[in-house]
Amino acid sequence: MYWQMAKRALCDTDKRLLWNFFRIMVLRAIPSVLRHKRRMKRGEYFPPFLFIAVTNSCNLRCQGCWMDVTAKQTVIPLEAMNRLIREAQAMGNAFFGIVGGEPLLHPQLLDIFEQNPNCYFQLFTNGHYITDDVARELHRLGNVTPLVSIEGKELVSDQRRGRPGVFSRSMQGLQTCLRHKLPTGVATSVCQSNIDELVTEEWVDRLVEMGVFYTWFYVYRPMGPKPRPDLCLTPEQQVRVRRFVVEMRAKKPLIFIDAYHDGLGRALCPAVTGISHHIGPWGDLEPCPVIQFARESIYDEGRTLPEKFIQSEFLRDFREMVRRTTRGCIVLERPDLLRDLVLRHEARDTTARQTALAELEAMQPHPSQFNPLEEIPEKSWAYRFMKRFLFSDFGVYSELDRTAAKPPTQIPVEPVSQTVDASSAELAAR
Ligand code: SF4
Repeated sequence: MYWQMAKRALCDTDKRLLWNFFRIMVLRAIPSVLRHKRRMKRGEYFPPFLFIAVTNSCNLRCQGCWMDVTAKQTVIPLEAMNRLIREAQAMGNAFFGIVGGEPLLHPQLLDIFEQNPNCYFQLFTNGHYITDDVARELHRLGNVTPLVSIEGKELVSDQRRGRPGVFSRSMQGLQTCLRHKLPTGVATSVCQSNIDELVTEEWVDRLVEMGVFYTWFYVYRPMGPKPRPDLCLTPEQQVRVRRFVVEMRAKKPLIFIDAYHDGLGRALCPAVTGISHHIGPWGDLEPCPVIQFARESIYDEGRTLPEKFIQSEFLRDFREMVRRTTRGCIVLERPDLLRDLVLRHEARDTTARQTALAELEAMQPHPSQFNPLEEIPEKSWAYRFMKRFLFSDFGVYSELDRTAAKPPTQIPVEPVSQTVDASSAELAAR
C-alpha cells in the first residue's frame, strides 16, 4: 500500500502543487503542532489548526445542519481574514480549514487564498460552485485542497441535503477538481442513512479510481434547529466505522483522515487537546463548529487573536470540564454539562436564530467515539507514527485515565482555574 500511495503522489500529481503542499504542510504546519505542544507545557493554548466559517450562506439545507443558512448572508471580510491569518502565522500557524455554510459563496474567497501564499487552505465544499474557472484559479494559486462533501448516493444525498440533484452536482464539482489536478478529498458525515452506501470498500475503490487523494469519515452530530437524532450512529456502528477506517488505511492507496482517535485507538476531542478551534461566521471564537457559544470575537478591540484564545476562561474551562468528564464528545454525551458551562460563563449564543441554548437544553445524550471496551489501534505503522507525534491526546486525559474512565455518568463540575496574562509580542517571541 505504501509504495502504491507514494507512486500516486509522485506520478499522479502536479509537481508544483505537490511541492507547495510539502513546503507549507510539512515544513510549516507540522512544526506548528510541535510549537502547540511546547506552549501547552506553559498552559498556553493557541490552536495550530483553525477552522474558519467564512460565511453562513449555503445553497443546500442539510439534515442536522447547525449553520444559519436561511439567515441574511454574513461573511468574514478579506481584511479581517488577512489580519487573523497574519496573527495566527505569528504563532507558527500555516494550515487553515475554510468552512461555512458553503465557502465558495464568499465573494472574496479566492483573494483570501491569493493574498496568503504561505498558508495552506482546506476548502470544505459541497462542490456545486467548482466550475472550470474556479478550479483553474485554485490550480494557479496552488495552496488549496478542496474537500468535497458527499453524503450518500443519488437518493440519500438528496434526502440528506434537502435538494434534488445534489449528488450529480457534487460529483461534477469533484470531477472538475480532479481534472485540474487539484489534491482533492471527499468527506462524509456518517449516519444511519448513508453508512451502508459509503462505509464500503467498493466506495473507497471508486474514490481511488477517480483520483481522489484522501477521505474523511466524520460521525453525524444531531445539531441545529432540525437535529434528526434518529440519524445518529449506535455504539456498534461507531466501532464499525472505526474498524473500517483502520483496515482500509493499511490496505488502500488513499489517505484516511480522522480527528477522534489516537494511534492506540483511544478516543479524543480535538477541541480539548486544543489542536483545533473554530471561528464562526460572525467572528466568534468557539470550541468547535457545533458548539455555538463564545465570549471572544475576532472583532473585539485591544487584544490580538493569540491573546484572545490564550486568555479565554470560557475555552479553558471547556477543556478542563471535558477532560475530567470524557474522552468522547461532550455535546453528544453530556449536553447538560455544556449548558451549565455556558450559563456559568454567560457565553453568548453565536447564532442568528438565537435558539442554540434551547437546542442544547432539548438534546438527549448520545453515545460518542468514546468506547474504552472497543479501542482499535492503528494497524498501519505510518499512521501510528504520525499520530504518536502529531495527533495524540498530548496527555490531557491523564487524570481521567487514572480513574480508569468509563463513558460518563453524573460528574460534578470543578470551579474555574487561574488565568494567564501575557502580551502577544511575548507570546509570539516564546
Ligand atoms: S466537542 Fe464533540 S463535536 Fe466538538 S470537537 Fe469535540 S468531539 Fe468534536
